[in-house]
Amino acid sequence: MDEKLSFFKDGLRLDGRRPDELRPIKIEVGVLERADGSCYIEMGDNKVIAAVYGPREVHPRHLQEVTRAIVRYRYNMASFSVEERKRPGPDRRSYEVSKVSREALASVILTSYFPRSVVDIFVEVLQADAGTRTAGINAASVALADAGIPMKGLISSCAAGKVDGEIVLDPMKAEDNFGEADVPIAMTPGGEITLLQMDGRLSRDEFRRALELAKVGCQQIYEVQRRVLVDRYSSIAAPESCEAAEAEEEA
Ligand code: ADP
Repeated sequence: MDEKLSFFKDGLRLDGRRPDELRPIKIEVGVLERADGSCYIEMGDNKVIAAVYGPREVHPRHLQEVTRAIVRYRYNMASFSVEERKRPGPDRRSYEVSKVSREALASVILTSYFPRSVVDIFVEVLQADAGTRTAGINAASVALADAGIPMKGLISSCAAGKVDGEIVLDPMKAEDNFGEADVPIAMTPGGEITLLQMDGRLSRDEFRRALELAKVGCQQIYEVQRRVLVDRYSSIAAPESCEAAEAEEEA
């Protein structure tokens, strides 16, 4: 059988998406009472929850930074999140994902506002279907905003990959497992890249196309993140409402 038939049918992917299409996204803000900020996200079959605590006192205290807050990020996959039970607890992969995700977000957090304190971000993957690090970053970014942590902007994240020689946006599990490459990125609304990883092999031209596609995906995710936050905090966040209020005051 021609291998191309296995991942594309009539130009569409196994789940009916076009090559440049994201999986459906659903975002809920403020889902946890005890956290300072929280977010639940579904990106396709990924289900991820993020909780943000802080800025708060650093424990252990020797980790304190005199001039700025530190940012901690813990990514964890529930043992029931994958088909075969995952051994609970941290492993090499979760340390790696936590490190790169922390770095993807820390650069936009205005840490100098909160010396000697910590912003703790916890990301729990409840159901995994490839792209959990990007879903986690998207959820964490919204949860940071929900916690009122001052940031230069929201971070949006998604991956592009190569399957059967085609560059595709937001690979799902089957494409990630059997595909030729996976390029997760994260970026600011202005297009500044804060995460760039690559698994597999791509030519220079393919890499450029994958990067461009992932950037377009991030812009679309940003619109969803922004809309969800505006809906929740409409009176504060929507410039239109502020303008309307000002106009009303002047009248
Ligand atoms: P990401 O989830 O960010 O794409 P990976 O590329 O490392 O990260 O993993 C791809 C997918 O492989 C995960 O989303 C998950 O569905 C699956 N996976 C990862 N780790 C495990 C594991 N320990 N057991 C079973 N499946 C796993």
